[in-house]
Amino acid sequence: MTLRARQPILAAPMRCPYCHDNDDKVIDSRSSDGGKAIRRRRQCNACSKRFTTYEHIERQARLNVVKRDGARVPYDREKLASGVQKACYKRPIPAEELVKLVDTVEESLFRLGEREVPSIDIGRLVAEQLKRLDQVAYIRFASVYMQVRNIDDLLQEVREVKDAHQPPPPKDQGNLF
Ligand SMILES: [Zn+2]
Repeated sequence: MTLRARQPILAAPMRCPYCHDNDDKVIDSRSSDGGKAIRRRRQCNACSKRFTTYEHIERQARLNVVKRDGARVPYDREKLASGVQKACYKRPIPAEELVKLVDTVEESLFRLGEREVPSIDIGRLVAEQLKRLDQVAYIRFASVYMQVRNIDDLLQEVREVKDAHQPPPPKDQGNLF
């Protein structure tokens, strides 16, 4: 995916205060300073130590989303969360997993350090996370937000998810699809 390859330009990467690695995961987020900042608890993926960062809301306000028709709208966490919630409707996924998923996606977006991000790229980031979390939610999300145009595209996605989650069938067994 091209999103990974780009280096952050504007946003300074979060560095672990212990080992200075910039690869970490967010384990908890809550608003602080009367809603003007987000306090994030992080765990370094390199040394496993935990640390806290504060992010100011202006950082979010600077990001624009470029829609498919070329229109630009300010990034909106609530919109992102509601798309994820719809895909996960009635699925056995704990609410905190959804918050974590939105955090992870948001984190990747800000790490890009871009002022504008195409909505399709955000969709891809969400889809990537959902794929790991819940196959049904992933397929729902893909059919609504990704460019799945017809039943063949959708079946292709279903097949890929199945292949990724199942051991390969014995050699003498034919393919079901
Ligand atoms: Zn570290």
